This record gives sequence, C-alpha cells and structure tokens, in this order.
Amino acid sequence: MATLFVFPVGTLHGGTIDERWEDTVSGQTTGSPAGQGFDYDVIVIGGGAAGLSGAVALARFRRSVAVIDSGEPRNAPAEGVHNLLGRENVSPADLLATGRAELAGYGGAVITGVVATAEHDQQLGGFEVGLTDGRRFRARRLLLASGVVDTLPDLPGVAELWGRAVLHCPYCHGWEFRDQAIGILATGPMATHQALMFRQLSDDVLLFRHTAALDDDQLEQLAARGITVIDGEVTALERDPSGELAGVRLAGGTVVPRQAIVVAPTMEARAGFLTTLGLQPEPVEVNGVRIGSKIAADGNGATAVPGVWAAGNLTNPMAHVMISAAAGLTAGAVINGDLITEETAAAVAAARARAQPQPLDPVG
Ligand SMILES: Cc1cc2nc3c(=O)[nH]c(=O)nc-3n(C[C@H](O)[C@H](O)[C@H](O)COP(=O)(O)OP(=O)(O)OC[C@H]3O[C@@H](n4cnc5c(N)ncnc54)[C@H](O)[C@@H]3O)c2cc1C
Repeated sequence: MATLFVFPVGTLHGGTIDERWEDTVSGQTTGSPAGQGFDYDVIVIGGGAAGLSGAVALARFRRSVAVIDSGEPRNAPAEGVHNLLGRENVSPADLLATGRAELAGYGGAVITGVVATAEHDQQLGGFEVGLTDGRRFRARRLLLASGVVDTLPDLPGVAELWGRAVLHCPYCHGWEFRDQAIGILATGPMATHQALMFRQLSDDVLLFRHTAALDDDQLEQLAARGITVIDGEVTALERDPSGELAGVRLAGGTVVPRQAIVVAPTMEARAGFLTTLGLQPEPVEVNGVRIGSKIAADGNGATAVPGVWAAGNLTNPMAHVMISAAAGLTAGAVINGDLITEETAAAVAAARARAQPQPLDPVG
C-alpha cells in the first residue's frame, strides 16, 4: 500500500495561497485579442514553474493567456528551492508568487480553480476547459503543466516528514543533509542508485532492505562504498517529541537513529482531466519497473493532439524546477510560432480574396 501525497491547499511553505495569491481573472489582459468566440489565445493548465514560464513567454509576445491553477505545486512541503540559479533557497511560495506577479505585469491572468475537463470545441476549432466549480473557458491552444503527484511508501511518519527529513532527490536537498546520518528505505529499483548518490554527501549511509530485492552486483557496490545493508522490514519512522525524525523502527522493535530518510515515491501524472482530449498517461520505467507515469510529448512539448502542448513534470517526472521552467518556455515559444503561422495563412487567404476581380454589377 502507498500514500498519495497532495499537499493541502493553503498550507504552502512561506505563506498560505489564499492570503498571497489573488485571482486575476478579471484583470486587464494587454495581449492580442483572442480569436472570435475564444476567451484567450492560450490556456495554461497548472501554474508551477513550467506553466508560469510558458505563460510569461506568451504574454510577452502579446498573447492573451490565462493560467488555471489549483495551488498545489509538487515541492510545496520543501522549505527552499535548490539548484535554481539566481534564486537559490527561495521558498516555493515566493517563487510562484513572483512568477504570478511577472505574468500579471505582462497582462496575463491567473484563475484559481481545478480543471475537470478539457475537450475540443468542434464549433470554434479550439478547446474548451471546464472547472470543477462550473466555469468554462475557451482558447485556441492549450499548454498542459499540471505536474505529478507523489505516492509515498505507506509507513507511519513518512507523509508527516515528507519534504523535510524524508527526501527523494539528492540535488534538491542532499547538501542540506551532508555529513549526517542518512537511511535509504529500499522499496524498488532506485534504492542502490540513491544510496550511491547520498554516499557522495555523507560517510554515514545505511540501506534498509525493507521490501526490495538486491542483486549481487548491487551488494558488491554498496559494500565497496562502505554502505551497510540493514535486513528486515521497516514498520515506522519514529519521531521525537518535537515531531522531528528520530530513527527507523524495524519489525523486531529496534530503532536505528537517522537524521534523514530517502524514499522513492511513485510519480503519477496529474492527467485525469485529459481523457476527454484523448490523452492517456504512459508508464515511466527504470530497469523494467514502473516508477510513475507521464504524458508523452516531443522536445518542444507537442503532444499527440494537435494544438495541445505539455511541459514540466507532467512530461518528465524527474525534471527539476529549472528544467521544468525551460520546458514551459520552449512550449510557450513554439505555441506562439504556431499561432503566427495560422494567422499568417489566414491573412494571406484574406489578401488573395480581396485581390480577386469583383463581378460587374449587372444593374443598368
Ligand atoms: C519535496 C520536494 C522538493 C523538491 N525540491 C526541489 C528543489 O529544491 N529544486 C528543484 O529544482 N526541484 C525540486 N523539486 C522538484 C520540483 O517540485 C519540480 O521540478 C517542479 O515542481 C515541477 O514544476 P511543474 O510546473 O511541472 O509542476 P508543479 O510545480 O507541481 O506545478 C503543477 C501545478 O499544476 C496544478 N494543477 C494540477 N492539476 C491541476 C488541475 N486539474 N487544475 C488546475 N491546476 C492543476 C497544481 O496545483 C500545481 O500548482 C522538489 C520536489 C519535491 C517533491
């Protein structure tokens, strides 16, 4: 069994969403007027690093753009964002609030809400997006950036400490736990890899075999790097009276003191609203073992559905913030180019129609 981890709305690190983020749907958009019948040129679903970056690129190109966001970025429980050049250690809330302000500065809108459906608008030739509160918006193009949800090992203490002393990514918070007592909770194919990564940061790394099978090569590598394997099933992460991690409890009752525990969540694409568009998540595997799901897209973010692009963790669950932002920017730029191509074709057709000789007036 596993625990689905969605950080509760309004409890983002660094402030609550409701306090800090105002819905700017009624705000002025300075972008180009969307085509007839459309509310926006582009609707972006998801306002994390990927979605906001794509939206800013579009708004700076005078596109009318709205980001619809439910306010649950994946890294919400983390105190700061790392490996983000120029904004090292900024809180996830501050980063996204700044991104929203930058978007608003170029006339883009942010709509707070949860997208339930996205479908082709057969009449207009674009897309219609439906929210759980009943609102509906139409756009010529869609950029999907709804990210993933982490499914955590179902053990007491894991969800409570997730993003603080329970980690998954050495690039995100490895430095913060350098030289500390680190434990790897082995549940699948990532365990040995994670142990070897964290060994670069600390001499004190234990691998708790728990439910994972380790082959002879892996055991040899772990031993060679001085990583001890602890046999037996883990039953809980123990916390001290202040709620912080104390150690790892084994089935026999022993508690092994640790300062950080590394887990491998399953990363599932947030794509339930896409079935009406005909987009289904596909599995992401490591060594033949499923570690999550994603929406397939090419290097520019184009999906299998014409007019629909995707970026960020939704297409690559391993992508960090900068990589997700870069993917959003790429998709935004390509969408703008696609709109320019469409508008130019329409302008050429109109110019040709005007240049046609008009039939003579038969009267008189
Ligand atoms: C604990 C933790 C710590 C991390 N620390 C770091 C770090 O230090 N450095 C780093 O580079 N990376 C870090 N990451 C990875 C980082 O979270 C991702 O790279 C980043 O969040 C991906 O951005 P995104 O825009 O694709 O998705 P997200 O940031 O998850 O944003 C997706 C947005 O879409 C919204 N959404 C989803 N579904 C809907 C819907 N149906 N309708 C409307 N809105 C919707 C969500 O509410 C969310 O706001 C960390 C991850 C975790 C789990």
